[in-house]
Amino acid sequence: MRVIVIGGGVAGATSAVALRRIGAEVTVYEAYADPAGQVGSFLSLAANGLRGLGALGCLEMVQRAGFNVPRQRMWAETGRLLGDTARGRLAEDSLMSVTLMRGRLVEALRAQAVHAGAQLVTGQRLVDAVTEGTTVRAEFDSGLTTEADLLVGADGIWSATRRILDPKAPEPRYAGLYSASGVAHDVDVEPGVFNIVFGRNGAFIYLATPDRAVWWAAQVASPRQPDLASIELDLIKRLYQHEQMPATVLAATTEWHRPTLMHVLAGVPVWRTDRTVLVGDSGHPVGAGQGASMAIEDAIVLARALQEADVRGALAVYEQKRRARIAKMVKSASANRDAKTAGPIARRARNLIMPAAMKLFYERGTSWLYTHDVTADWQHTGHNTPTQT
Ligand SMILES: Cc1cc2nc3c(=O)[nH]c(=O)nc-3n(C[C@H](O)[C@H](O)[C@H](O)COP(=O)(O)OP(=O)(O)OC[C@H]3O[C@@H](n4cnc5c(N)ncnc54)[C@H](O)[C@@H]3O)c2cc1C
Repeated sequence: MRVIVIGGGVAGATSAVALRRIGAEVTVYEAYADPAGQVGSFLSLAANGLRGLGALGCLEMVQRAGFNVPRQRMWAETGRLLGDTARGRLAEDSLMSVTLMRGRLVEALRAQAVHAGAQLVTGQRLVDAVTEGTTVRAEFDSGLTTEADLLVGADGIWSATRRILDPKAPEPRYAGLYSASGVAHDVDVEPGVFNIVFGRNGAFIYLATPDRAVWWAAQVASPRQPDLASIELDLIKRLYQHEQMPATVLAATTEWHRPTLMHVLAGVPVWRTDRTVLVGDSGHPVGAGQGASMAIEDAIVLARALQEADVRGALAVYEQKRRARIAKMVKSASANRDAKTAGPIARRARNLIMPAAMKLFYERGTSWLYTHDVTADWQHTGHNTPTQT
């Protein structure tokens, strides 16, 4: 089976590894010439995503590129501790969470995909795809065309594949938040803790790295879409000046990444045709620290389904297996976003209720995320088994 993967991000590179594992001939086409550089800020992989990487033989490589952050603390704007929990801990194994720069993750996964025998072609942006019988033909902005038995659209939130599948597909819309991030030095922050401050102007995340730097990201609430060019570090400092730790971290900032707008995408009705399928953010940008982990789950479920059935049947099985979980995740991410944009009254109510709720319900309420195991029968499958078309 020949597979074209569109996009060389987390979803694309992981899909390439998983598809090589089932013996497919895989070529990844990535729009940017060298996008595997240090683009973006940090992200986390939760236990469910790490388990997936383990099944694909990528776990150690990714763990080496990042570090474990076993605890999560949530703070009110007043500095009061709202909750202190294990971060994605699983009773039955030791997988916790790994935090790393997105660029390093993409780099590691791409290297693994190439090592597994996938081809990576950069500087090729998909513009169209046409299915004729059992063949799908992809067209790129360079004029290149290529054919395969399956096209996997792993081209992110602004996916061209999604629009090609369904010209009426929803477009991303501004989420009422923008993100700014940077690195600070010489701040006393306890290592191994992922701190989230629910500030007056949005959430502020900070954590110490093993080499004693502090990574931070502010998700600033702004009902009106801002002009990003006008946002400077001084503005972020002013917005968080009344919150003690954010103000301290911002004052010690030595590296500042350009801010980006945050977007949401309403439910995508069409995920597949007979020969094309969406994985990762192209079909369901979820946020809430699960974007990369959900993309990894997608890749494994898709490859597993293709091992069992012909392409058309496998894509149906993939969608059937992923829809409910993604819908639940999207709902949870939306609640998470609301917590970051809460006004003064909602903040006061949250500060009252959250400490007890965290103690009583948090681990039980979030375990569905981490215990979900898409690798259960993957371990028993032979590698490089030929697949049908
Ligand atoms: C530049 C960037 C920075 C990010 N930074 C963060 C961050 O700091 N924190 C965080 O939590 N999440 C971040 N994300 C999102 C995170 O990577 C995703 O939520 C998650 O990893 C799922 O990844 P994905 O592969 O589905 O999508 P993405 O990571 O968006 O990858 C999509 C890939 O497809 C390529 N592509 C797009 N259109 C085409 C086309 N027409 N033809 C060929 N290739 C195409 C893109 O260049 C990209 O490499 C970032 C995403 C990007 C693209």
